[in-house]
Amino acid sequence: MKLLVINHNFHYEMEKLVRIFFPNEKIEVVRDENTEDFQLLTSVGENITVAARFNGFSKTLTAPLCGDNEMQMGRMVYSLMGEYTGFYPKWGVLTGVRPSKLLINTEKEMGRENTERYFKNELLVSHEKYALARSVADCEEHIISLSKPDSFSLYVSIPFCPTRCSYCSFVSHSVETEKAKNLVPRYVELLLKELEITGKIAKNLGLRLESVYVGGGTPTTLNGEQLKALTGTINRCFDLSSCREFTVEAGRPDTVTEEKLLVLKNNAVNRISINPQTFSDSVLKEIGRHHSAEDTINAFKLARNSGFDNINMDLIAGLPTDTAESFCRSADIALSLDPENITVHTLAVKRASSIGLASPSIAAENAKIASQMLDYTYEKFKNNYHPYYMYRQSKSAGSLENVGWSREGFECVYNIFMMEECHTILSCGGGAVTKLKAPSGDEIERIFNFKYPFEYISGFEELIDRKKRITQFYNTYS
Ligand code: SF4
Repeated sequence: MKLLVINHNFHYEMEKLVRIFFPNEKIEVVRDENTEDFQLLTSVGENITVAARFNGFSKTLTAPLCGDNEMQMGRMVYSLMGEYTGFYPKWGVLTGVRPSKLLINTEKEMGRENTERYFKNELLVSHEKYALARSVADCEEHIISLSKPDSFSLYVSIPFCPTRCSYCSFVSHSVETEKAKNLVPRYVELLLKELEITGKIAKNLGLRLESVYVGGGTPTTLNGEQLKALTGTINRCFDLSSCREFTVEAGRPDTVTEEKLLVLKNNAVNRISINPQTFSDSVLKEIGRHHSAEDTINAFKLARNSGFDNINMDLIAGLPTDTAESFCRSADIALSLDPENITVHTLAVKRASSIGLASPSIAAENAKIASQMLDYTYEKFKNNYHPYYMYRQSKSAGSLENVGWSREGFECVYNIFMMEECHTILSCGGGAVTKLKAPSGDEIERIFNFKYPFEYISGFEELIDRKKRITQFYNTYS
């Protein structure tokens, strides 16, 4: 679609706002004020003008200039796009990734009551989304306060999965293919070396480990022996005495066995994720999963019987062919299993996935359905859980949020530490990014590992060399 921009420099913000309604549409910014070839005109002159010209829909709004022309224009775009699509996003004109962070910062400037007014009246955030941001902000503030200047967390990447889901945009290789499968032993061997070297660096710098997160991919794609070597190495090379949480994602139930669960349990892992995404067998098939909903339930029960008392389950709103009704059923089943965390994601279709991008009208319809799905989880989950973690992705349906729900005292601290950039995250494995945070100050520096497993293996020496930067950074900023 063509976005005509006349006499203002808010085109980037307006583009982001339009994208909420049309997440996958290519938006072209044009500045020729004489053209009639546009779908949305935004102009600042004697007045603020916004005009929409979509198939059969034509409307113009004008408003006087004011102290915040950008915000005023945003509200006018929101109003016209809402009228055209019939969809009024509950986050209003707020396009940011972390609403709770904005809330915390705004509150520091203008106090609690004015912040609420600002969110609701200026940003047009609905009452329920404001309450959500408020609840997350309160919880985050507590967890952030646990992080000290010498704190760090460890992230370990296992970029392998049993099969590739159709919506996946991560670098994860399906071990169904011989080529990927053959990379695993060498990958694990080098990963153990990297962990050992990273452990020494952390020890020499006197850093204090707060949390460990082994993600991917699906780490439990590794066999029992490999998992034992991995978790054993973490135990041997890092001081876990201060570690609050050790998570391993056991996302896919088709990778969960009693043997692997015991390995994890015996190596200090105290939080795992078993991710149904959906409890509908037909939707599972549609997204390329080779397991049933019952397999997920059985894997969950096996984990409970193996002594795991902190389990997360991920659900995804907006999966292809899923309906509001079947999503609600999935939410009910997740609830009946009584996990400590339920994380509800809104599907974000990225170009790296094999799902086709939806047309604007379908995207708006998908956004409405995803919104109903999330509404249902708020109603159902709020009695037993509280939202503690939230972020938005630009390509998600309706720019809706991903929310981590938790029972009291089971919040995943790694999620908050990482998202809020509280302290350094030392990362190991293919595609992992070490994020260094100065102990006193806001300086951040990233060190990138090679993305794909074959590059990780072939470029290992160089990657280890890059790790020298960790010590240099701490010497500079301590
Ligand atoms: S389990 Fe996750 S990482 Fe693996 S293929 Fe599916 S979406 Fe991608």
